[in-house]
Amino acid sequence: GMYTTHMADNEYITDSAASGTAMSTGVKTYDGAIGVDVNKQPVPNVLEIAKEAGKATGLVVTCRVNHATPAAFAAHSEHRNNYNAIMVDILNNNVDVIFGGGSAYCVPKELGGVRDDGRNLFNEFLAKGYTIIDSPSALPLATAAPVLGLFAPGDLAPEIDRDANKEPSLAEMTSKAINLLAKDQDGFFLMVEGSQIDFAGHDNDAPRNVRETIALDEAVTVAMAFAATNPDTLVVVAADHETGALSIGKDYQFDPIVLRQVKASYGKIANLIAEDGRSIVELMQEYASIELTDEELMTIEQEEKAVRGITSVLNARIGVIWGSGNHSGVMLPLSAHGAEADLFAGFYDNTDIPKKIAEAMGLSF
Ligand code: ZN
Repeated sequence: GMYTTHMADNEYITDSAASGTAMSTGVKTYDGAIGVDVNKQPVPNVLEIAKEAGKATGLVVTCRVNHATPAAFAAHSEHRNNYNAIMVDILNNNVDVIFGGGSAYCVPKELGGVRDDGRNLFNEFLAKGYTIIDSPSALPLATAAPVLGLFAPGDLAPEIDRDANKEPSLAEMTSKAINLLAKDQDGFFLMVEGSQIDFAGHDNDAPRNVRETIALDEAVTVAMAFAATNPDTLVVVAADHETGALSIGKDYQFDPIVLRQVKASYGKIANLIAEDGRSIVELMQEYASIELTDEELMTIEQEEKAVRGITSVLNARIGVIWGSGNHSGVMLPLSAHGAEADLFAGFYDNTDIPKKIAEAMGLSF
């Protein structure tokens, strides 16, 4: 299927809070709204409806778990920036499996976190019976829901820069979440987000964007493998919006080899230029496998922020054009596989998606 993503009141370009809310609740709302309508009133979401029907629920993301999209599936708040309040909503929502980043939002300021209400939410999750983990090596220790796995204080690392000893991949988290949730005889609802495809789009970082998309693809593969042996499973793949107005090919040029050879995010290469001591030419050789021309070197040197120069040089080499540093308003493709997948064929709006998912589960809003 293909669907539109605009917000309420003819605001054509959505943010992640409004689109997350549309996709979780079926209600159009305003920029920044988390699970509330245009009158700032809480509206039920598909995860809550699934939970009410006795199903297990899960959220797996690579941003902080109280970021806009996962928040839209577990919280109700007038604004997406109410991170501390949203984390309390997630606690109160009793989501069975929660994997991502955001440990700082569970810890009071006095203990090194960012909470200003003195609450230690880790203690409160423990009191509710949650197993709490913070590293990939601890994943096997979680043998039964509920489980909270927060692997970084804020967002997880970009996939292209990720240290596999410190943070699990999206596919690893998805696999673990499905194992835990599938134990529920009533079935489960799981929302998995490749959260940082958007971040890479905002930064116009093409290699990082591709690596994030492959990480999502690997998570989808995990879900498809489960669906293959559990044919009553529905797998839906959709985005909240496009980011960066990306198009492939500049004057008929596109070089996927350069795209593949880049080994770090543009931001990390820029940080190394500032801190590492090696020359720009050496670092671009090591991390992007290219020999800079004199003109390209000048482009990087002349920018006040090296990351801008790196972005324009590497995007030009690859042959990608970014029309924006923000979201675009294009219609989006949706793929559905398995039980009731044909509900998703055709043209519709993002607010139809949770209604179709609920219908596939035999439920309604
Ligand atoms: Zn965004």
